[in-house]
Amino acid sequence: MTGLYIGRRTDIISNMSITIRSLIDQLDAEHTLDFREYETLLTGWDSSDAAYAAAKAVIWRQHYFSNKIYVRGLIEFTNICRNDCYYCGIRRGNHAVERYRLTEEQILSCCREGYELGFRTFVLQGGEDAYFTDDRMCGIVSEIRRRFPDCAITLSLGERSRESYQRLFEAGADRYLLRHETADAEHYGKLHPAELSWEHRMQCLRDLRETGYQVGCGFMVGSPYQKPEHLAKDLCFIQEFRPEMCGIGPFIPHHQTPFAAEPAGSYELTLFLLSLLRLIKPDLLLPSTTALGTINPRGREMGILAGANVVMPNLSPTDVRKQYELYDNKICTGDESAQCRDCLETRMESIGCEVVTDRGDAPGRG
Ligand code: SAH
Repeated sequence: MTGLYIGRRTDIISNMSITIRSLIDQLDAEHTLDFREYETLLTGWDSSDAAYAAAKAVIWRQHYFSNKIYVRGLIEFTNICRNDCYYCGIRRGNHAVERYRLTEEQILSCCREGYELGFRTFVLQGGEDAYFTDDRMCGIVSEIRRRFPDCAITLSLGERSRESYQRLFEAGADRYLLRHETADAEHYGKLHPAELSWEHRMQCLRDLRETGYQVGCGFMVGSPYQKPEHLAKDLCFIQEFRPEMCGIGPFIPHHQTPFAAEPAGSYELTLFLLSLLRLIKPDLLLPSTTALGTINPRGREMGILAGANVVMPNLSPTDVRKQYELYDNKICTGDESAQCRDCLETRMESIGCEVVTDRGDAPGRG
């Protein structure tokens, strides 16, 4: 009897595995699945399926980018934020964090330092800080554009009006990162206070696209209340919206937020999702994020081996890095920019990849 029982179980497992493999094959060949199929994938996968998907994802990465990894210099220019997102360490309700805001000169000197280190993309990221009005922000963007005409300027400043996005684009910004956080409106409501709306966030993404930016969306893996069906919706959304970039990383709790006691997102699931994203849009700009490097010491290398093709070393001044702590134990908060660049270069070389210094536009754009 026992033998029969084990036999049946093995059959069930291998049938599931066959289903999962055939879904991965379909994604590899056609780059689309429907919601139910994504849900099946995300509930039924195991580590050997993830390895199977990663091998296919890396073939696509190499097809579009060979062994080249793009670098983006990240400048975290303000940790002042009007929003109170439950997961985020710089939420306005965190009174324990010391707030800072870089001056225009400081931002420009980060760019100069980055330029000398070989960066040709600057990512200005910050909290939603009302000090940075359109006039001020456009002044900064146009000055970066004037001083570094061969560089791409990426903004990640959260939700703004369509007019604001338009003005910043005209001032010289090329790309905008705005993670959608979750493609499920109800789940969004569990991660944010009522004053923030999922509809508005999604509208911002459409406005950015229509303005002409190369657009990046993205989500956290393992955020509180997240279920496979939410991730299936995220994948459907990305399949439809077809962003130029997509940033994903594990949720990591921050001790001064309402989610302090929630578990971190899964490292393995994050890697699997990176592979699926590469299969959904083979030329996607897909960063191997700092959060992935924070939950596993080789996370960023493994992200590349799962299909990612971008790394974002930190260019922020060392004295403020600790204050841009979105989650606990964030890595690289003590390093100089040059150290961050060198460290990532060595890590990428250890897996046979090469960090390149061009703008790294999405294929077909420029
Ligand atoms: N204010 C900007 C930038 C936000 S910070 C904006 O709204 O777009 C960039 C990203 O960090 C967020 O979009 C979120 O997905 C991620 N993040 C924030 N808190 C996090 C946490 N605790 N763990 C993992 N990622 C987090």
